[in-house]
Amino acid sequence: MSSASLTSKLATEEQKLLACIHCGLCLEACPTYVITGDENDGPRGRLYLMRAVGEGKLSNESRAFERHIDRCLGCRACEQVCPAGVEYGQLLEAARAELFTAATQRGLGYKALRFALQHIWLQPARLKFAFAIARMIRGSGFAGLLLKTGLARILSRRFEFGLALLQSSSPESGRRFDPEGTRAHETPRVLAPSNTPAPQSKVCATKNPAAALLFSGCVGEGLFSRVNRATVRVLEVNGVEVRIPEEQVCCGALHAHAGDLAGARALARQNISAFSHTENVPVVTNAGGCGAMLASYGHLLSGDETFAPAARTFSERIRDVSQQLKLVGSNAGSSITTKPITYDASCHLLYGQHAGEAPLEMLGSISQLNFARLEGSERCCGGAGIYNLLEPELSREVLAEKLANIRATGAQVLATGNPGCQMQIGAGALLAGMNLRICHPVELLDESYARAGFYKQDGSTT
Ligand code: SF4
Ligand code: SF4
Repeated sequence: MSSASLTSKLATEEQKLLACIHCGLCLEACPTYVITGDENDGPRGRLYLMRAVGEGKLSNESRAFERHIDRCLGCRACEQVCPAGVEYGQLLEAARAELFTAATQRGLGYKALRFALQHIWLQPARLKFAFAIARMIRGSGFAGLLLKTGLARILSRRFEFGLALLQSSSPESGRRFDPEGTRAHETPRVLAPSNTPAPQSKVCATKNPAAALLFSGCVGEGLFSRVNRATVRVLEVNGVEVRIPEEQVCCGALHAHAGDLAGARALARQNISAFSHTENVPVVTNAGGCGAMLASYGHLLSGDETFAPAARTFSERIRDVSQQLKLVGSNAGSSITTKPITYDASCHLLYGQHAGEAPLEMLGSISQLNFARLEGSERCCGGAGIYNLLEPELSREVLAEKLANIRATGAQVLATGNPGCQMQIGAGALLAGMNLRICHPVELLDESYARAGFYKQDGSTT
C-alpha cells in the first residue's frame, strides 16, 4: 500500500499533526512509554512515525509503524498534558484507519477482529445471538471450571484471560451487599419520588423535571444489563424520565479504534437517526468508552454533507449518567457497607467525556461511604477495547500496576464507569485470587437507594 493513502487520510488532520512541538511532556503520562522506555511507544515517537509515513519517508507497511501504533492503548492521557493541544486521539484514529486497510497482511488476531467487526458487530441480530451464546457460556459454569482447573491456562494464557474477562462480567462478580436477602437478579420497582417512604431529610425538596434517552450499548445490554436497569432506576428516582430507543446499535468504538472508520460511520448514522425524534433530550450513557465515541460523532461525520450538522448536535447531547445526576441533583442513599470502596476512572470517561468529578460526587450521595482513594486512578487499566487480547503482554504489565495500587487501598469493592474496565480489572483480580467486587458506581447508588426504601420488590405502591 502506498503511503500516499495515509497522507490523504491524515490530510484533514495535518495541522493537528504539525502542532506537536516535541517537548516530551507527554512521555511520563503514557503507560506504554513508562513500561517499555521506548520513544516509539510514547506519543511523541508515534507522532513522528505518523508524520514520517504521511510525508512518504516511511512506508505505511513498515513493521515499526504497525507495531508502535498497535501498541498504543488509545487512552488519550497524553492529550491532557500536552501544552500544544495536540489532538492525539483523532490522529491515532486516522493512522489506524490506514493500518486497517492493510489488515490482510497482519496476524490472525487482527484478521479475526476484522471479521467480527464487519460480519457480526454490524449485524444487530447476529450480535444479539453472539451475546446470548456468551451469556450461556458464562452461566454454564464451564468457563469457571476451565479456569479453576488450570486447563484454560494450559491451552493458552490468552484463552485463559478471555474466559476470565467473560466471567468477570457475570452478575455474581458485581454482586450486591446482601444482608437482607435481596438477590442480584431481582429487579426492584421504582417508586415515584413523591411516594418514597425515605425520611424527608434524605430527599431533595424539589427536583427538576427532566427526560433522558438511554444509550444501552452492545456490551452493556449484552453482558451488563443489570447496570442499565440500575441506571434507569437511579435516574427515575431523581425525577428523570428515561426512554430507551429500540433502533439503537453499537456505538462503533471498537470499529473506530481498530481503524474501520466506514463501519464506525455506518453505526453512527444509525444511532443519530435512532435518537433523532426527540432532539432536545440528552442522551445518557453509563459506559465511558461508548460515551466518548458518541461524543466524537461530530468529528467522525464532519465530511458527511447529509449527517454533519445532526452529528454535531447529537454529540452535544451526550452525558454520562453521573453528569446527568449532577445536573438534576441526586437524592441521598443509605449506607450500604462499612467496607472500603475505591474508584477507578475510565480513561474515556475522564479524557473523552471530561467526567472526572461527577462519578465521585455520585458515590458521595451514598451515606457513610468508606472511600479509599486509588493511586493512579487516572491511568489506563490496560483493557482498551480488546487491546488486552491483541497485545496481551503489554496489557498485563499495565494491569499489574493497577492491581498493585488497588491492593494498597485495602478495598474489597472497586467501582468504575465502563464495562471494558470492569472486565479487565475483574479478570486480573480473578486470576490473581483477589477478593474484590467490581461494579459500576451507579450500581452502588442503586443499592443505597434500595436500602433507603426508594424501591419495592412486590411492585405495589405506597
Ligand atoms: S493514547 Fe495513551 S498509550 Fe497512546 S500514546 Fe497517548 S498516553 Fe500513550
Ligand atoms: S506534549 Fe504535546 S507537544 Fe509535547 S511532545 Fe507530547 S504531543 Fe508533542
